[in-house]
Order: sequence, then structure tokens, then C-alpha cells
Amino acid sequence: MKITALIVAGGSGERFGKQNKLLTQVNGKPVIAYTAAAFEGLVDETVLVVNPELGDEFEKACPGIIIAGGGKTRTESVRNGLKSVTGGLVLIHDGARPFVSKNLITRCIRDTLDFGSSVAAVKTVDSIAEEHDGHIAGMLPRDVLYNVQTPQGFFTEDIAEAYTHAEGEYPDDSSVFAALGGEPHITEGEYGNRKITVPEDMIYFTGRAAPPQSQRIGGSFDTHRLSEGRKLMLGGIEIPAEKGLSGHSDADVLLHTLMGAILNALGLKDIGYYFPDTDPAYKDAKSSDLLAAVLILMDKAGYSLGNVSLTVIAEQPKLAPHTDGIKQSLSRLLGIPVSDIGLGATTAEGIGDIGKGDSIACTGYVLLKKNL
Ligand code: MG
Repeated sequence: MKITALIVAGGSGERFGKQNKLLTQVNGKPVIAYTAAAFEGLVDETVLVVNPELGDEFEKACPGIIIAGGGKTRTESVRNGLKSVTGGLVLIHDGARPFVSKNLITRCIRDTLDFGSSVAAVKTVDSIAEEHDGHIAGMLPRDVLYNVQTPQGFFTEDIAEAYTHAEGEYPDDSSVFAALGGEPHITEGEYGNRKITVPEDMIYFTGRAAPPQSQRIGGSFDTHRLSEGRKLMLGGIEIPAEKGLSGHSDADVLLHTLMGAILNALGLKDIGYYFPDTDPAYKDAKSSDLLAAVLILMDKAGYSLGNVSLTVIAEQPKLAPHTDGIKQSLSRLLGIPVSDIGLGATTAEGIGDIGKGDSIACTGYVLLKKNL
């Protein structure tokens, strides 16, 4: 079933002062772009209901999104927006809730399919008092109280019909749905799914609005067989040993692991795709040259290395005397300080091929930072 996100951004934002809060820039992006990004990949289309006077600005903020004109009230805005929805299932969401998680959106879609509706809501944490003449007249039973959020999911046909019949102003979509006899299903919301209402909320938002994917982690593993007559290359330097690692290139298992982890962090294909061992160009290639090519791919993707963490598993030679030298070599090859390089060396306790001294393996992780 085609799914539409209907994001309501048409409010006048009176409690927020003159500037439109959803067009306020945070870390170089307007608030509404964060909200829209949360639905990316989970819905088939996104319709944004905006104040018609700001249509161009919202279009610039969210390129490629369908823009619909809002009305005087939220109820009117949603009614107008629903006319542009072509999906069979619609998730109606407040533009001022940029923290909605992909997990919550996914659960709302699933519950709408299962129960015919889905209203994100969290149990009320504070005690709620009823006031009379400036006194507390009584406390409401907290265990049946919920703070209602968005998204709220419905089959488009049902909610469109409810809005057609709705008169006056309703606080949210579930009330419109209920007014026509629907029974809105509660989906466990998230306390972090806060609504930006007053200017002070922006302080909280700025703190949380680190650019998405500002860091990426990647891991990898590699192993090569030891054989006579080969040099043992580890981390770009030659280690004195009776046997060396065999392979199509210089078989530097440590640099191969590093390359694999960087490509893995970037969501790219693995080393064999970029440097196939069927290609004579890579016969006896220096792994340090291949690593340089991987670092260029990383730079093109807009990332830099944070720290790297590597563990070599070798029975022989003993690596402890060489770890400082290897770290210095890695620091030069990677362009990061030695203090950002973790390098462990362990044996395999005589177990298996590695334990018998027939091969060496390496496992490792890298953390990449998005370039600002
Ligand atoms: Mg390899």
C-alpha cells in the first residue's frame, strides 16, 4: 500500500514570536528539513501543508516535496492537505516535532495496517490537577492519562471522510476520527518526540540536532596465509620474520582490514570490488597505495578518520616489539596522531591455522567523522 506523510507546517506559530519556527536554521538546516528527513525511506510521498504566503520558502527548505496550502486552523489545514494525498495510508504529523524517530514511524505504519489507526501517545508523567477558584479541586487518575503526539496514522479513505464531516476545530486528527465513530488505537510514543512550541525549545533542539550521521562506524576482518620467500608487511612496514604473508598484493593484512573497515563505514562495497585480485594492475600492489585510494573515496564522501582500533592475531613473530613502529607508520599513512590509533596483538593460543603459525589475521574498527 502506498504510504503518504502529511506534515502540517501551516500554523501561524503565535506562541513562538514573529519568525516562522519551522524555517529557523539549526546547524545549517531549517527545522522542517529535519522533520521531513525522518520520514525519508519509510513513505512513498510527503505532502507538506504550509501557510501559502511561505510556500516558496518551504519549497526551498524541502526540495522535491509536495506543497499544499494550509487553512486558518489546523483542522482546515489537514482537510486541505488530505486533497493532495495519493497514498492509501496517511501518517499525519506536526512539522514542529522534528525528533520523531524512524522506529516510531515504522510502528505507526504497522499499527495502522493492523488496527486501522495509530496515535502516538505517551503516558503522562506529571500529576494533573483540576483547578477550581485557584485551588486544586482534585487530581486526575494518572494511569489513564496520555500525552498525545504525532504521527497519527489512518487509512486515507477513513480520515478524509471524517474530515469531510468535521465541523469546527479539533485538537488533533484522532479526535476527528473518533467524532465519526472511529476508535483511535494508541501506539506507544516517545518522550523524546517533543514539540517545539516556545523559543526556549530551540535551545533543546539545537543540542540534539547534530547533523544526521555525523559519525559512522565500520568494522572488518582479514586473514592471509604465511609462506616462505615472502616479506611480512604489517601496517605499511616490513617486519623481520621467517615467513611472509602471501596474496595478490603485498598481503598487508592490517592495511586490508583498515581499508575494509573504512569502506564498510561508508556503506560502500568491499575491497575486492575496488581492487579485484583478477586485475593484473594490483599484482604485488603496495597496500599503502590502495589505502591512499580508499582515503580519497572517504574524502569524496565527506568524512575524515576519527580513531582506529585494530587487533592482529599472530602466533609468530612476536609483535610487541613492533607495535610502536607500526603505529607510527599508520599515523603517517592515515594522517592521524598516534594517540588515535589503537593496536593490539594477540596469539591464537596454538589453536587452528593461526595457532600453528600458518596464517595471520586482523580485525578492526574505524570511526569516521562527517566533515563540517
Ligand atoms: Mg586481504
